[in-house]
Amino acid sequence: MPELPEVETVRRGLAPVLVGRWIARVKVRRRDLRRPIARDFARRLEGRRVLGLDRRSKYLIVRLEGGLSCIIHLGMSGRLTWCAGTPPPFEIHDHVEFEIAADDAGKRAYLRYCDPRRFGLMALAETTELASHPLLVELGVEPLDGGFTGAKLASLLAGRKTTVKSALMDQRIVAGLGNIYVCESLFWAGISPKRTARTIGNRRAQRLAGAIRRVLEDAIASGGASLRDHRQPSGELGYFQHRFAVYGRVGEPCPDCVCAVVKTGGIRRIGQGGRGTFYCSTKQR
Ligand SMILES: [Zn+2]
Repeated sequence: MPELPEVETVRRGLAPVLVGRWIARVKVRRRDLRRPIARDFARRLEGRRVLGLDRRSKYLIVRLEGGLSCIIHLGMSGRLTWCAGTPPPFEIHDHVEFEIAADDAGKRAYLRYCDPRRFGLMALAETTELASHPLLVELGVEPLDGGFTGAKLASLLAGRKTTVKSALMDQRIVAGLGNIYVCESLFWAGISPKRTARTIGNRRAQRLAGAIRRVLEDAIASGGASLRDHRQPSGELGYFQHRFAVYGRVGEPCPDCVCAVVKTGGIRRIGQGGRGTFYCSTKQR
């Protein structure tokens, strides 16, 4: 499922071609995504210029002129593809198409939303009311923002009796982290996923905040990582070769492993909150 780095990769790929152009036409072929697309969705978007493309957690936010914004979530399997010039015939899971025009009478381009499992969503909101929008209002701190420091993270985890793993998965505490990058960050910070959140002091929080930032930035630099189904808006595939340190590697040694795999069994997988957690019991305490 697309996590923060994948969504940020899409944003960075799409922004240069989309911002400054305008939406000439919108075709909604299927409305019943996770939340149904509103009846007036196309009508309200058509004719508006794109002022910016932002991201909040795993939501893409297309800022349009006239104070309107379009919130897009890719769900489990959603992907956006960009096609300059004549688009290919629709495929069964292509649910929405934005026809994008430029001022210089150049070729139209087509931004398509394809989502086989239909867990994604598209909704319109007033730009000035985004911060209080029901989808966004409860989201926690952005891990790539300057304000995400060790001290900030320590204060967010203080007093919490859940495990640090489930605290980091909680979107109201830190926004946009999913299972893969939480496992990876805890590994690089040397913190056990089973540790109680409130026992993360300042020093560990410092390491953890740094690890989260580095793991996310590395994944963005390599173009996102997690989903076979996921494509960059340019239509390019091929960013699932990313190698994780612990995620999905049960039984293997971790990077620069000092533990005796024969004795420890290598990277472990345990169930936490219904998801598999991968970790090294030797390095992570
Ligand atoms: Zn190890």
